[in-house]
Amino acid sequence: MKQDTTKQLQKLYEQNVMNTYGTPSIVFVRGGGVNLYDANRRKYLDFSSGISVCGLGHCHPAVTEAICRQAQTLVHVSNLFLNENMPRLAELIVKKTFGKGRVFFCNSGAEANEGLIKLARKWGNATGRNEIVAMENSFHGRTLATLAATGRSKYREGFNPDMPGFKFAKFNDLKSVKKAIGPKTCAVILEAVQGEGGILPADEDFVKGLEKLCREKDVLLMFDEVQCGMGRTGTLCAWQGYGVKPDAFSFAKAIANGIPMGAFVCNERLAGVLTPGTHGNTFGGNALATAASLAVFETIYQDKLLDNAREMGAYLRGKLEKLAEKYDFVKEVRGRGLMLGVVLDFPAKDILPILREKGLVALSAGEVVLRLLPPLIVKREDCDKAVRIIGAAFKEYSASKGDRK
Ligand SMILES: *Cc1c(COP(=O)(O)O)cnc(C)c1O
Repeated sequence: MKQDTTKQLQKLYEQNVMNTYGTPSIVFVRGGGVNLYDANRRKYLDFSSGISVCGLGHCHPAVTEAICRQAQTLVHVSNLFLNENMPRLAELIVKKTFGKGRVFFCNSGAEANEGLIKLARKWGNATGRNEIVAMENSFHGRTLATLAATGRSKYREGFNPDMPGFKFAKFNDLKSVKKAIGPKTCAVILEAVQGEGGILPADEDFVKGLEKLCREKDVLLMFDEVQCGMGRTGTLCAWQGYGVKPDAFSFAKAIANGIPMGAFVCNERLAGVLTPGTHGNTFGGNALATAASLAVFETIYQDKLLDNAREMGAYLRGKLEKLAEKYDFVKEVRGRGLMLGVVLDFPAKDILPILREKGLVALSAGEVVLRLLPPLIVKREDCDKAVRIIGAAFKEYSASKGDRK
């Protein structure tokens, strides 16, 4: 009966939905905390968090309460009017990041990064500069401008011509960035931990050097915090963990725990760059999304989830490193906080169905990286269970491949 539900929905999907993802194998019908339940009532441990979105876990009571309350009060009035939540949320974001600065609210990561790009161009064009240096292997979104800033050409194939105005430098190579910065450069954009590219953290020296370089050249330093932000690496923004001060950054994914929302934030120096009429959108910062986001921020601080992300991140990493010793095909465990990658010597896609079959939802990144993004509320016993399942999956995989130790 329930199996039929899955088959039926897959059929509807295949007949009516654009095939950009391939048909998903599972229908999830319910979630709570770290767990998901499928149409057959099977329980899964979710170490994907909807790709770094449900940072507080599924249906967190504080967020659910805020959404329900707001849905019964007021959902949307447009940015021609104020709602009660949006300015309060902006104040909170500024207070926890730059101290002084400005926020613009939108609806997704790509849109937030588009905002950063427009901000940088508007600022730079005043002095005849409008080129942006981005990193190889980066990911910034699927819109035409964010694709042009994305340092993996496979995402751009077939969508040429590329939008002009972007140059690429090697990630974690300061010399390469120095070379890429020219007289027309207005900004550098990077992820502190490259997500889609394979959970690759920036080196401390690189980020510090980049800050210094950008200051010297009067070039803006901008971080894409869409995946690594909102506490995932153990600080609200991943850049905060590097002890640097950028000029602007973007948030999205986990900012409202699943209600679509993005934001970009600039420091006080750039506060006057985007003036009335120069940027806008219809939904951004609406009462519903900002209510959810306020609940997210309050919960992160009340429940000390940044500390938990650091502690559980270290715990999970330690256990994964132990496990890695047992298998030659595991090359490395890397990442920061609860943004962890297990580097394999085969396509990580191959291990995901085995993990799912054993009750763990995880992700791949790059080609060979098993990506783990548990919610910030994760507990020791959840990490134990995940590592047990990963161990069993590795064992099964190596058995199926013969004598790989
Ligand atoms: C997911 C992601 C984006 C794009 O966000 P969307 O909400 O899918 O538009 C941009 N940058 C990074 C680092 C991401 O991980």
